[in-house]
Amino acid sequence: MKNQQGGETVTTSWSCPVCGGRSVGRVGVNQYYCRNCYLEFIPTQEGYEIYEVQDDGSLLAWDDTISC
Ligand SMILES: [Zn+2]
Repeated sequence: MKNQQGGETVTTSWSCPVCGGRSVGRVGVNQYYCRNCYLEFIPTQEGYEIYEVQDDGSLLAWDDTISC
């Protein structure tokens, strides 16, 4: 049976804190990317840190975090 669910071993699926979409991929240890908004976000204790991905690939941090 391949369809096991539950437990810590299953990869957590994240939804985007900005658009709520599920087009989120993991790009780092604690870093996720929304293909819908072209944003990266990092879950922290205070909320989500949001980074805008520029055309040249650099990241621009938003001033505010988004609380969970
Ligand atoms: Zn999004």
